[in-house]
Amino acid sequence: MVSGHAYSKGLRTVKTCVGSEFCRFGTQDSTGLGIKLEKLLWGSWTPAKVKLAVSGCPRNCAEATCKDVGVVCVDSGYQISVAGAAGMDVKETELLCTVATEEEAMEVIAAFVQLYRENSRYLHRIYKWVAKVGLDWCKAQVVADLENRRALADRFELSQSVYRRDPWAEHAQRPADWAPMMDLTREAAE
Ligand code: SF4
Repeated sequence: MVSGHAYSKGLRTVKTCVGSEFCRFGTQDSTGLGIKLEKLLWGSWTPAKVKLAVSGCPRNCAEATCKDVGVVCVDSGYQISVAGAAGMDVKETELLCTVATEEEAMEVIAAFVQLYRENSRYLHRIYKWVAKVGLDWCKAQVVADLENRRALADRFELSQSVYRRDPWAEHAQRPADWAPMMDLTREAAE
């Protein structure tokens, strides 16, 4: 796991239950979708931390209904809800939409995260931001307006294509006695 997951203003982790692969109640492969979502969103910076979860059925063992974005798998597909919290404030998520396929779920979630990135301010958590702009406005942007959803998801994908995947790795590989001034001195001498 890349360093920074625990404290970044960005994606933390995507919690999942064991899903249909390992549980008799599972309606969809929640673990597989969780891994795909983590790879999709991994390293993206956001105004505040973003936590996700995917539960394989409404028994909700991954506690998806108190996350910033939660997916609850059902027989007909994927219920995507947003704006939950489970810290200083505790709040249940609100249903954004239900989609039939994993691909749609990933596109809606990428578009929603991009909408949040483009319209919120630093340190404004998703549940506070949605309370301000309104869930109906979010639905209009990423559920009703398919073209806008794709455009948001495309912008998210573009930003993901240009960032450094692990900005801490380079630092960790430096010798123990490395100090920033050493690099500056070397550059000045060259
Ligand atoms: S949420 Fe459903 S599928 Fe996932 S572990 Fe719990 S009972 Fe099984």
